[in-house]
Amino acid sequence: MPGQEITLVCPDCSAPVMAAAELAGQVVRCESCFQIYLREADLGFLDNFAEFGAVSHRVVAETAIRGLVTASPPERKVLSMAVFEQFLQAAGDLIGLYAAIKDRRHRPLVESFLNFELDAARTRDFFADLEELDGKDLLTVLGLPEPEEIAGQHPDWDEKDLGYAANALWRALNGVKRCATSGILSERALLQARREIKRNMPVTSHSSWLRDGSLAANEVGTMILDYKRRRIALNSLTVDEGELNRMLDAIDTLSQAAGDLAYAYFLLGRAGDDFLQIKPPDG
Ligand SMILES: [Zn+2]
Repeated sequence: MPGQEITLVCPDCSAPVMAAAELAGQVVRCESCFQIYLREADLGFLDNFAEFGAVSHRVVAETAIRGLVTASPPERKVLSMAVFEQFLQAAGDLIGLYAAIKDRRHRPLVESFLNFELDAARTRDFFADLEELDGKDLLTVLGLPEPEEIAGQHPDWDEKDLGYAANALWRALNGVKRCATSGILSERALLQARREIKRNMPVTSHSSWLRDGSLAANEVGTMILDYKRRRIALNSLTVDEGELNRMLDAIDTLSQAAGDLAYAYFLLGRAGDDFLQIKPPDG
């Protein structure tokens, strides 16, 4: 049975807002003010992402790899899982940001990004774009100008600002392209990694307790119930320092690209105009 509703007043425009009865006494925005609020948050979100969000995965992965030296065998497995998880999250950040930017005419960036889940369709879409589009087309798809066009679009900017923006754009473009050519970030590798590690999946360091478990000594496994074959299925990851260092390189490439993309957008969006579409489209 649906809960009872009450009428509140939108704090931004004073229009009446229907809300669940349990929200009595709380501040609740109306839908159209919510869209404006999200659009207004886009720039700050991009700035923060470029500065903090994009580097967080590298920091965690680097710390985990440094910890391998003194770790016991079970601890090494835990740390390896942490590196793989950061790799997936870094990939999710870049692909999520890319998808959010592409969709920004319809939805605020921050809304798209916070709702994003890395799935097979999104992953394919991202790799298909990178394969098919050259640099210029990629910028067009993302609604970004070519670096040489920035001066014409912003006659009021000084040389320094133009330089920053053009540089950020070039770096973002090259970084995103580099992710596509990096072997470890192929569509297949990413989908495979995603299958192996799902959030909150229990991990085991050995499988001797399972009648049909077959983890090797240097492997760590995630467990899922396989109802089709009526067993506990183990997806194994090899704990190998070379592999982990390749992951770290990939995390670095992904995070740089995502950070540069966010920063380029931030610089151009900060200039005002309707670059980020602060007002929701009519209809
Ligand atoms: Zn309102």
